[in-house]
Amino acid sequence: MMDQSLERYSRQILLQHIGEECQKVLMDSNVVVVGCGALGTVSSSYLTRAGIGQIRIIDRDFIEESNLQRQLLFDENDIAEGLPKAITAQRKLRKINNKANIEGIVTDVNYANIEELTKGADIIIDGTDNFETRFLINDFCIKNNIPWIYGACIGSRGLTMNIVPSKTPCLRCVFETMPQMGTFPTCDTAGVIGPIAGIIGSIQATEAIKILTGKFESANKALIEVDVWDTKVKQIDVSDFMGLNDCPTCKLHTFKYLEAEDGVMTTLLCGKNAVQVMSRNSSNVDLVQLARRLTSVSNVSSNEFMLKFRVKDNEFTVFPDGRAIITGTNDLSTAKSLYSKYLGM
Ligand SMILES: [Zn+2]
Repeated sequence: MMDQSLERYSRQILLQHIGEECQKVLMDSNVVVVGCGALGTVSSSYLTRAGIGQIRIIDRDFIEESNLQRQLLFDENDIAEGLPKAITAQRKLRKINNKANIEGIVTDVNYANIEELTKGADIIIDGTDNFETRFLINDFCIKNNIPWIYGACIGSRGLTMNIVPSKTPCLRCVFETMPQMGTFPTCDTAGVIGPIAGIIGSIQATEAIKILTGKFESANKALIEVDVWDTKVKQIDVSDFMGLNDCPTCKLHTFKYLEAEDGVMTTLLCGKNAVQVMSRNSSNVDLVQLARRLTSVSNVSSNEFMLKFRVKDNEFTVFPDGRAIITGTNDLSTAKSLYSKYLGM
């Protein structure tokens, strides 16, 4: 006779691979999803439905109309409300499963905050769209012995791989060096077909369930490549990569992505003609006060999650963590000076 509180999970408990024991482990598990776009909306939805006890979703962005083609947790009302992705995801996922402790955080994951943001994580799921953050997650997870699941989609292709410290090669073992910025296509420059994200996000959720329940023997050890247009699935054996080279991360234990200079950080938002600027010294910005200060400069619109204003060709979106996305420029130093001119943080 099944425990009544487990009834909602009865269909997955029936699986011989799961059962009541593993279900209870899932309900005790803590998952952090970094990035809540096409992949993150899929994996977090399945993991919430599967009964993961605690899910934290971190995303720096707000929702745009062009996201709706593939980001399954969002709709037109969310855009009209001007809500960030992490907050919208939190609301939707709480409605799906009120037993789960779901927390959405609007911020950019960086070397200075990754430890705080991922505290208690049993596994980290990659829902990001850039290699800089993935190598940061890789450094952090290898250093702290936390498994993580890489995922990426572009065009009709998707890639995913489990990184389990000391059991599988790490991301740097396989990719070795970061692709030159701008030479690697992004969704904004090459496009993406929605369902590929559904496939890769679903694999990530499944692998997370296996790893969390201690079924490492069943977990994927390859780099999986799916092309949904050609209907092809490849399993690329990467086992030889482990320890083959002097991997700076998992062999030499140097973690350069966890170390950075102090000051203002800028990130080019590839293909968007926009730059993200973040100052180490700013946090908990009072958006109401800032809006008042900016009324002499521009028309300001704001809600509790963000503030927007435009000066000539540049549109500024400012978040309470002190971060700003400035559109209308691809130049990091221009963005930095616009940031200090109007936000002075
Ligand atoms: Zn490595």
